[in-house]
Amino acid sequence: MSARIMDATDTLACLWCGVDATPGRIERFISLGRRPAPGRPRLAADQRSEGYDMTWCPSCWERRQEALALVSAHPAVSRVLGDVALHRVESGLNALELIGARRPRMKSAREILRFVDFMSQAGMDARWAARYAPFTLADAQEDDRNETRWEHVTERQRQAARDALAALLARATERPMPTPCPVETAGCAMCGVGSVYAPPSQAEHVWTPVTFTASALGGRRSPERQSGHLCPTCQLAHEEVGSIGPTAMERSLILHLGVRRKSLTATELVGLKGWAAMPGIGPNEHPWHHIEDVEQLRESLA
Ligand SMILES: [Zn+2]
Ligand SMILES: [Zn+2]
Repeated sequence: MSARIMDATDTLACLWCGVDATPGRIERFISLGRRPAPGRPRLAADQRSEGYDMTWCPSCWERRQEALALVSAHPAVSRVLGDVALHRVESGLNALELIGARRPRMKSAREILRFVDFMSQAGMDARWAARYAPFTLADAQEDDRNETRWEHVTERQRQAARDALAALLARATERPMPTPCPVETAGCAMCGVGSVYAPPSQAEHVWTPVTFTASALGGRRSPERQSGHLCPTCQLAHEEVGSIGPTAMERSLILHLGVRRKSLTATELVGLKGWAAMPGIGPNEHPWHHIEDVEQLRESLA
């Protein structure tokens, strides 16, 4: 696909789609040199760094305004991405445009950040300006223009955008699946649950490997460290408390029971043992179900 050469005296190329455009806002791209081509002399050192001015065509300017609206409506996007937020959202929207795809749902900062994660690279790689910066393609001239928008984009670049969109949609629509403890026949060391629901893409990070002593979990006194895994809720309790022991177990029980209390009384805590401190029992279907009367406890605390 070669770009057509047109007369371009007072106009500039659209930095995105490559058509001839009346300059509005201008952006300058610095080329660090020309990519070598067979049979072409290498450029002299003083010719290697060139600046190319480009602008936005009316259609691509519209896309920029859409990106601006999204970024302004969700300030968290700029907090995460910094100065490049607008550019990255704009890149993602242009990636959609060049494959004629509809915008996926972007109603929260989280959805926009996910969109950018998957889509912005495909847009950046396909833009017209990529012919000139950081390196100028061997055959690219300053007054080259596309006759129709995005004409320079290769099938491979479009496919990259389609693949990125497919991956984004798969991520956005994935449903939580039962994710068993990595050690078969084992449960969470504290609450004993054998399987938790998690999105498949997160499955690897659901269970946290830990080491502890049985006595810390209310079992027999022994200095010997055991290894096991914590479910996400118990890991949260572990992180809040800082160690695996009675306080973390109490926190986990409160979190799992979904009660508002900050602590339990001594009576309520009697016999609270972590699952790993009770050898020989199978994993629980529900958290803490190896504790007698756990449902009664939930009701009394509700
Ligand atoms: Zn354009
Ligand atoms: Zn647990």
